[in-house]
Amino acid sequence: MIPFIDLKKQYKRLEPEINRRIQGVLEHGRFIMGPEIDELEQQLSRFAGVKHAITCSSGTDALLMPLMAWGIGPGDAVFTTPFTFIATAEVIRLLGATPVFADIREDTFNIDAKKLIKIVEQVKSQGRLKPKAIIPVDLFGLPADYDEINDIAEEFDLLVLEDAAQSFGASYKGKKTCSLAHAASTSFFPAKPLGCYGDGGAIFTNDDELADKLRSIRIHGQGSDKYENIRIGLNARFDTLQAAILLPKLAIFEEEIDARQKAAAKYTQALKNRGKTPHVPEDRTSAWAQYSILFKDSSERNAIQKNLQNKGIPTAIYYPVPLHMQQAFSDLGYELGDFPISEGISKRILSLPMHPYLEDAQIEQIAEIITA
Ligand SMILES: *Cc1c(COP(=O)(O)O)cnc(C)c1O
Repeated sequence: MIPFIDLKKQYKRLEPEINRRIQGVLEHGRFIMGPEIDELEQQLSRFAGVKHAITCSSGTDALLMPLMAWGIGPGDAVFTTPFTFIATAEVIRLLGATPVFADIREDTFNIDAKKLIKIVEQVKSQGRLKPKAIIPVDLFGLPADYDEINDIAEEFDLLVLEDAAQSFGASYKGKKTCSLAHAASTSFFPAKPLGCYGDGGAIFTNDDELADKLRSIRIHGQGSDKYENIRIGLNARFDTLQAAILLPKLAIFEEEIDARQKAAAKYTQALKNRGKTPHVPEDRTSAWAQYSILFKDSSERNAIQKNLQNKGIPTAIYYPVPLHMQQAFSDLGYELGDFPISEGISKRILSLPMHPYLEDAQIEQIAEIITA
């Protein structure tokens, strides 16, 4: 049995250190905003090369909070991809703003800057919604086309929020993800590249004023003292215990990213004659949250998935329904056929087991079943 993501192997490797850090929290008893939060935030900001790292309760809240700080609401358009996890567009709608989708590139599964600019121009000329922000998603761990996206943002005076929930540890033109836009959000959900043992996330920015607002929003919009509230906020703190768990994981994270690169290279070597293996442009690296291949059509994909399942190999389909076809967004008025690349890929894609502790022999076994 090969696990889709092997959290137990990582725990066994780090067991004494994780247990020691948990014990430390139990002893000092500062479960809310304890000293491990500050320690982790300093290490995260150093890792990403960004001035401020602000931990919070989830990757979803990490997306919501910058939009709140920017005052995004009814009448505003926020541009994003329909080929992502629901949270990316959910937070836009939650604030009463309108998600406006642009289709993805067939080769990287990330938002297509050429389509994005057309849609921004269209929304602007229609004048019904005010273009405010772009949320590119670094899907499966691969950074989106930030140079092109940031150029569009500059031209149309838009803010950019990088959804790096899947890409912590990846890089773009020598810079780490979470440093590629006005602000960035990541997730510490257990299955993400850097995962804790519960829900969690972080926001990154070089903007001092935004960082202050985010720290206030995180704790009920608090001002300079606990019982002064200067804005409407959330209870969106990260648990001290989870910070204590992440610290030893962050210490070996670069090594784990290297191990993911090796596993991905091995998969690509073994599968190059079967299915379409992932394309990583030369100017960036992936954090390999997922290793996803494309088949000819849904019947081939489904048959291979079933065959793997029968042999005890778990796989996953990210994402079977693009967001413009989700019932939650039916009021946006999109129709089947609006985003043909996303729709087509959702039928052909399959994600294979991927984690830093995957062995060559396991990859060979999986590839043999697929190529048989
Ligand atoms: C996981 C994920 C999120 C949400 O993170 P949570 O920590 O689960 O709230 C947002 N965007 C993308 C692309 C994700 O994969």
